[in-house]
Amino acid sequence: MRGAARVLMVGMGGLGCPASMALARAKIGTLALADDDDVDLSNLHRQILYAESSVGNPKVDEAAAALLRLAPGLVVERVGSRILPENARALVSGFDVVVEGSDNFATKFLAADACAQEGVAIVHGAAVRWIGTALAVGPRGRPCYRCVFEDIPSGAQAGCNDAGVMGPMVGVVGALMADLAIALVDGRDVAGSLVTYDARTDALRRRTVAARPGCALCGDTPAITTIDELRYAARSSQPTGGAR
Ligand SMILES: [Zn+2]
Repeated sequence: MRGAARVLMVGMGGLGCPASMALARAKIGTLALADDDDVDLSNLHRQILYAESSVGNPKVDEAAAALLRLAPGLVVERVGSRILPENARALVSGFDVVVEGSDNFATKFLAADACAQEGVAIVHGAAVRWIGTALAVGPRGRPCYRCVFEDIPSGAQAGCNDAGVMGPMVGVVGALMADLAIALVDGRDVAGSLVTYDARTDALRRRTVAARPGCALCGDTPAITTIDELRYAARSSQPTGGAR
């Protein structure tokens, strides 16, 4: 029942914009928008919900108005905060699917861990340069984001603000994220689906990842069963493949 579905958007940047538009048009009932950034002129080319007149205003306010113009029956909830260790589990609890298009590894792993612990399905998306990925994790949480990416990498990572990302790329990846989220809402078995898009070759590849028995989050003896702030804070300044 899409009309009764509740979806939480984590990040309303380059990926969150197109993903939320597709979800709104697909008649998802409620979209909650979690972001505490303001609209920035330098990101407008890939953040397609916003206009130049939006610059300086909170993204959640501008996105809510734009989404309601697209889908007047939509219920939009504005969460004026980003996902943080202290609010993560409470924030994701009660949603059918979380759609995560954040721009740093700490947020991605935090959202993954919180959703696993609350039994909430999540779709992760990332786009850097010409490569984009979308991963669906079902409500049972296995296989999960940590099965594929294991842990926050140490050392500097290239985020889209440094490495760059092609504007049209995020539209493709956002649409792929929305497609996986809709499948989860509709009850289709897409858990573990990893879609990779290479814009240089136009190659779209879809495979199902396997759960790792030793995974710290979903493995046979998981080490991660709570949200420990230190797990994310120490490395939270490192950006990655999300696109803001
Ligand atoms: Zn796992």
